[in-house]
Amino acid sequence: PRTPVNVTVTGAAGQIGYALLFRIASGHLLGPDTPVRLRLLEITPALSAAEGTAMELDDCAFPLLSGIDISDDPNVAFDGANVALLVGARPRTKGMERGDLLEANGGIFKPQGKAINDHAADDVKVLVVGNPANTNALIARAAAPDVPAERFTAMTRLDHNRALSQLSKKTGVPVSEIRRLTIWGNHSATQYPDIFHAEVAGKNAAEAVADEQWLANEFIPTVAKRGAAIIEARGASSAASAANAAIDHVHTWVNGTPDGDWTSMAVPSDGSYGVPEGLISSFPVTTAGGEYRIVQGLDVNEFSRTRIDASVTELTEEREAVRALGLI
Ligand code: NDP
Repeated sequence: PRTPVNVTVTGAAGQIGYALLFRIASGHLLGPDTPVRLRLLEITPALSAAEGTAMELDDCAFPLLSGIDISDDPNVAFDGANVALLVGARPRTKGMERGDLLEANGGIFKPQGKAINDHAADDVKVLVVGNPANTNALIARAAAPDVPAERFTAMTRLDHNRALSQLSKKTGVPVSEIRRLTIWGNHSATQYPDIFHAEVAGKNAAEAVADEQWLANEFIPTVAKRGAAIIEARGASSAASAANAAIDHVHTWVNGTPDGDWTSMAVPSDGSYGVPEGLISSFPVTTAGGEYRIVQGLDVNEFSRTRIDASVTELTEEREAVRALGLI
């Protein structure tokens, strides 16, 4: 039998954690031949809830689940981690200033970055889901100087999947026949879902849609504000779709993108497309052999340039703010 892969999940007792853990344990993260050991991190008051989830995981008798450890100490939870899913974060509450939010999250992601630095496996891959995800990933990365920077990523795959679905509805083409869609920038309301390089059933998506009004006033805002629309409709934030996107992100990173397609991941910028180096910003990426590459050489038109720049400016401001707080 193969050695189990250690998967650490933070905020394991939360909503997304509840939707995520069962799919990891049933083999959807790493495939049907890879046993996993779950290492759950929670804050002390939520340990009991995490125990409850672990009891349910036991009750599923998943053949691939080789064990579950629960801790409130990041040094324990990240010990030997091969995959780290950073889901737990401090949500913005009413009346909270952005600086307070960044500071509260710094208190979470800085020690977690250090624990990853000191204890995770050499091949660790990190995905940050907890918001503000891009900047939380930046904080964790800065606290982990011994881990290659490119292992720290943040999630825009849910935005990517939302965009695929909206484009499919508009064109009547199934999502399986849509390729090369891109989310650029920050996982926030400024994100830019780009269909200018996308293909629907082999045709250029922007040409197939031929409706700039729809693109600017419906598609982009619908994708960017989908989270709020779900809270409004469901009375709770998106959890199953967020968990699904986290699974997709890691699965694609490990198993590769199909030939001729790409996906969206927020990764440390190498300066591509004018995004300042080091910012964790979403790009079109291909993956192979457990590594990703930013797709190079795409033409960025005026419409896209303005929107990418706006989102990147927001990321730059978040970086300045956490720098001023001494978090990076
Ligand atoms: P959720 O599980 O619903 O969400 C967790 C995080 O994911 C939030 O920051 C949320 O951001 C973010 N997120 C990213 N994308 C999405 C999306 N598309 N839809 C919804 N959320 C998204 O939160 P819960 O409050 O249910 O659970 C959080 C858990 O984390 C709690 O159990 C808490 O105890 C724990 N926690 C653990 C920590 C640790 O392990 N050290 C530290 C802090 C908290 P947003 O709120 O902006 O939507």
